[in-house]
Amino acid sequence: MDDQGMTSEPPAVDAGDLAVHEECREYLAEVHQFLDGELGAERRTVVQIHLERCGPCHGAYDFEAELRVVVSTSCQENELPEGLRDRIASLLRDLADEV
Ligand SMILES: [Zn+2]
Repeated sequence: MDDQGMTSEPPAVDAGDLAVHEECREYLAEVHQFLDGELGAERRTVVQIHLERCGPCHGAYDFEAELRVVVSTSCQENELPEGLRDRIASLLRDLADEV
């Protein structure tokens, strides 16, 4: 009952979240390069650590990684079907918007 002055309402969470997710946009943009192995070793590590810690980014990464497996095993082409490409684009946009 002595929670006056001890209320741990975290009003800073929103601002903190925004800051983190602003950063996430960069990471999300790099997920493709990460999967393509186009990032330098140092950057790779940074991105990987973020992916492991950040739910939304990890979700996007998982989705991308899985998609690549599906695409490479099912159509053996580098080109994604147009509908699929759109879906991914809007999914990533949703993720960025939502946060
Ligand atoms: Zn993130």
